[in-house]
Amino acid sequence: MTRPSTSGRIEVICGCMYSGKTEELIRRMRQVDIARQPFRIFTPRRDTRYGIHQITSHIGTRLEAYPIDSIVEIPDYLDDAVQVVAIDELHFLIDDADQIAAMCQQLADRKVRVIVAGLDQDFRAQPFLAMAHLLALAEQVTKLYAICVRCGAYATRSQRLINGQPAPAAAPVIAVGGLDMYEARCRACYEHPQ
Ligand code: ADP
Ligand code: ZN
Repeated sequence: MTRPSTSGRIEVICGCMYSGKTEELIRRMRQVDIARQPFRIFTPRRDTRYGIHQITSHIGTRLEAYPIDSIVEIPDYLDDAVQVVAIDELHFLIDDADQIAAMCQQLADRKVRVIVAGLDQDFRAQPFLAMAHLLALAEQVTKLYAICVRCGAYATRSQRLINGQPAPAAAPVIAVGGLDMYEARCRACYEHPQ
């Protein structure tokens, strides 16, 4: 089967935890499926919160996905028919920002629609570099918001908690967890880790 002459592109879905990134990715991929466009979804193996062969939003919607550690594994799963490649939780991949950007660019140049979802900031409110890089390169950027659990304003930051207190700045950047470990907070309610 040959691929129709759609143009390749990079779409980025970003925001803090619970902002609905995975829900939005699943929504777009359901449309792709209905349109019968061949697709592949990838999810970092490090994201062990749910079954490793699927992506699951916090409200439980899910789709099948291939677990990978590195973005360089993606071409192994593709054939010429694949039109859409989705990557959830991009910030969990082991690669550096340049490698991730290079692979996404290469796929988009080969007319693949590349959709990535991930955190734009870590728990210290610093950019995840791979996401920051892709945000600059993407054709389309969607920034989503959660609701601040303290005041109800739009939340843009993910507060990591240990026993209910902000995690220290020296804690590792990657720590997989859910509602017990992270809260969505706005700029005013976010407490900078010390
Ligand atoms: P993400 O991939 O951005 O972490 P998901 O798509 O997995 O987000 O889940 C989004 C869902 O999380 C929302 O639809 C809502 O049901 C739930 N949720 C939990 N806490 C919050 C919050 N503080 N603000 C908004 N949604 C929340
Ligand atoms: Zn707030």
